[in-house]
Amino acid sequence: MNRLLHTLPVIDHPAAAARFLHDADRATWHDASLWQVRRKRDRAAAMVEEWEELRALASAIKEHTLSHLDTYLEAFERHATANGIQVHWAADAAEHNRIVLDLLRRHGARRVVKSKSMLTEECGLNPFLEAHGIEVVDTDLGERIVQLANDAPSHIVMPAIHYRQEEIGALFHAKMGTEAGADEPAYLAAAARRDLRRRFLEADAAITGVNFAVAETGGFVVCTNEGNADLGAHLAPLHIACMGLEKVIPRLDDLGVFLRLLARSATGQPITVYTSHFHRPPPGRALHVVLVDNGRSAQLARPAYRASLKCIRCGACMNTCPVYRRSGGHSYGAPVPGPIGSILMPGADPVRYASLPFASTLCGSCSDVCPVQIDIHDQLYAWRQDVTRAGGVSRAKRWFMQMAGWLLAHPRRYRVAGAALRRLLRHLPRRLLYARPNTWGRARELPPVPPQTFRDWYRTHRPAPEHPADMP
Ligand code: SF4
Repeated sequence: MNRLLHTLPVIDHPAAAARFLHDADRATWHDASLWQVRRKRDRAAAMVEEWEELRALASAIKEHTLSHLDTYLEAFERHATANGIQVHWAADAAEHNRIVLDLLRRHGARRVVKSKSMLTEECGLNPFLEAHGIEVVDTDLGERIVQLANDAPSHIVMPAIHYRQEEIGALFHAKMGTEAGADEPAYLAAAARRDLRRRFLEADAAITGVNFAVAETGGFVVCTNEGNADLGAHLAPLHIACMGLEKVIPRLDDLGVFLRLLARSATGQPITVYTSHFHRPPPGRALHVVLVDNGRSAQLARPAYRASLKCIRCGACMNTCPVYRRSGGHSYGAPVPGPIGSILMPGADPVRYASLPFASTLCGSCSDVCPVQIDIHDQLYAWRQDVTRAGGVSRAKRWFMQMAGWLLAHPRRYRVAGAALRRLLRHLPRRLLYARPNTWGRARELPPVPPQTFRDWYRTHRPAPEHPADMP
């Protein structure tokens, strides 16, 4: 693995998670809110009899597409161009941002309405455009909230999930003059809608993401629950759609498979409220698609991690992950947080994101809910080994893990060490037991030491063998 030169600070997930957990009420409420979404996803999935077949099919379509990515991308470009869409290729975030800025300048656009797009977050498009005098307004309600708060999204589907209702009320009062203390969701949504309507009408250009681009037709699909992408794209004379290379799918027939999985996995809805198809620019308007690599080809070339490119950004792995739910999206310091972010981001910068593959219990729940069957927990485990080999883990932790490996590899050693530790724990004074190196004990009380090991307990309690051959 290459050690990339990085200019941004290294993300310390455990420290950031500890800060989030400091506000115990918020952490509990965050955990519960996401678990509700996970449960809705479970109910929606259970109502589709062929759910597992759909997942397998989606995974196979993505596998096939990734194996012929160049062919499908070229087919998409060919058909899109024939439809009157102008297609651009960007090797990285900087080129993507330059292309978008050039297009806006060429059309004399100064005010932009943008719908939710993780790719533009990844490329840092908003600050780049603002630095060049372009006003960008995020029109997805959650994105708008974090934009008004000068904050970053903490979830790819619910960007403002870390905000409480009353905090949004106070924010809207400060920024939009809503009534002080008013925090009813309907009232706040109406205020945001009023404010955004004016922005939509004044916009010179609309920027959207792309959920799926169909190689066969040269069209693309944008899914939103608020219709904001559609309104922006239909009102503004210029529409720029930004998509990562992995968003292409071969045929229109494949689309139904993904649409059935996406909304159910994301929010438990049968389908997203607005599933809009864009095939050509309306008369007198311009439609551009920017195809962005930004590290995706490199990820495709890593056999252990290429399946991460199957991701359709539903967020289900975040909603189920016990670490994400309890540590909050910002603790990952990445545009895509949670389990999928933890396997994508080290590919982008293995030094900066070295702590992310360890932000998991490896319980496998992420892989279980993933609608495209990405083996997320296996990849997390593989990244841990790569990061450790590349020196991304502290010497103390490496030493400790080596010791643990040595101990666990030999049953006899393990038994002797366990017996010694049990005796020691009974007599060790608290100040030594809970001393600094015991980071686990900082937040928890150790359970009482059991009088015997499980092995001893089992020996006396196991059922009698039915056949003599079963006797040890
Ligand atoms: S990895 Fe799977 S579960 Fe997670 S966001 Fe992507 S598609 Fe959804």
